[in-house]
Amino acid sequence: MSEPLVARMREFGTTVFAEMTALAVRTASINLGQGFPDTDGPEAMLERAVAAIREGLNQYPPGPGVPELRQAVAEHRKQHYGLVYDPDGEVLVTVGATEALAASVLALCEPGDEVVVFEPYYDSYAAALSLAGAVRRPVTLRPVEGRFTFDPAELRAAVGPRTRAILVNSPHNPTGTVFTLEELTAIAAVVEEHGLIAITDEVYEHLTFDGVRHIPLATLPGMRERTVMISSAGKTFSVTGWKTGWVCAPRELVTAVQTVKQFLTFTSGAPWQLAVAHGLREELAWVGGMRDGLAAKRDRLMAGLSAAGFEVYRPAGTYFVQTDITPLGFTDGLDLARRLPELAGVVAIPTQVFYDRRELGRRFVRFAFCKKDEVIDEAVARLARLRGAV
Ligand SMILES: *Cc1c(COP(=O)(O)O)cnc(C)c1O
Repeated sequence: MSEPLVARMREFGTTVFAEMTALAVRTASINLGQGFPDTDGPEAMLERAVAAIREGLNQYPPGPGVPELRQAVAEHRKQHYGLVYDPDGEVLVTVGATEALAASVLALCEPGDEVVVFEPYYDSYAAALSLAGAVRRPVTLRPVEGRFTFDPAELRAAVGPRTRAILVNSPHNPTGTVFTLEELTAIAAVVEEHGLIAITDEVYEHLTFDGVRHIPLATLPGMRERTVMISSAGKTFSVTGWKTGWVCAPRELVTAVQTVKQFLTFTSGAPWQLAVAHGLREELAWVGGMRDGLAAKRDRLMAGLSAAGFEVYRPAGTYFVQTDITPLGFTDGLDLARRLPELAGVVAIPTQVFYDRRELGRRFVRFAFCKKDEVIDEAVARLARLRGAV
């Protein structure tokens, strides 16, 4: 049979995550590739999901999401960010941030529309844009004094008459950058000037370190009306398997996204929704403790990677440390990631796969630190063998 997959999806065959996870299993390596925590979310929240199943909440919930969760989301936005969204019509529950992103792009972009993305970008962005027939216009994040940032002139140059939207991920996976007010102001200026829609991926909103605060783009002057704000319970509450996310946006944008979402999945799991409503109302102190623990894990992994010879970029948020492999004598992160299990018994992600222009990311490799301390320690001890391996 000729290739059955449609042409626009062919470049997305198997993801690097599937390849690296399979490699980790086959070689019994420590997997610091995929970003999922190896500890559970808050106990009472887990119990709430169990209770919901036992209470019989096992049929289709309403399309926009259960009212308790939409209400809890609206309260949370108000309390944390001073943003007011009507739980009836301005909040939409989705199957994780992934569906929220895909539904937003499919709902808002015509084939041929251009969308600005900061590279390296989360892998589902490129696939969602291809499904919609939209065209990526990458703006590159580069290390400047130890932190990845963009050149505002490059951002302005990426926008043209066909630009429809800009996808903004902060705190940013995989670089760990949390955009500053100054960076967000530069983005807001471009959005305003060209009448764009901003689609913001804020799944790490609570996972910021060293007193750095996440600032939603929607809180900047004029931005709430143009922003589709996306969050998820997965990273916030360490329940990545629950796939419960949400969109907050002005009514006409939510209506558009919901029009697509209703035919992708119609709705998402009822028990998780009730449990996440509990989480947003009662478990933010737990999230604070988890975040402080993560900051310590970041420091632990960074110290080990530096000692092993990597150049390490200090992330202000997320689950990930970005490294430069060239001080060790390696030049290609994909090549190193494929050899790392044999060289050191560890699996990591080659950052270049998140770029349109792969050569710009060739020397970077991403490690996840959302793992138990003993796992990080063992990985670091193994990576110490890398020196002189080239
Ligand atoms: C994990 C992640 C997602 C996916 O979130 P889900 O709620 O699991 O769909 C989206 N964006 C970024 C940047 C992520 O790291």
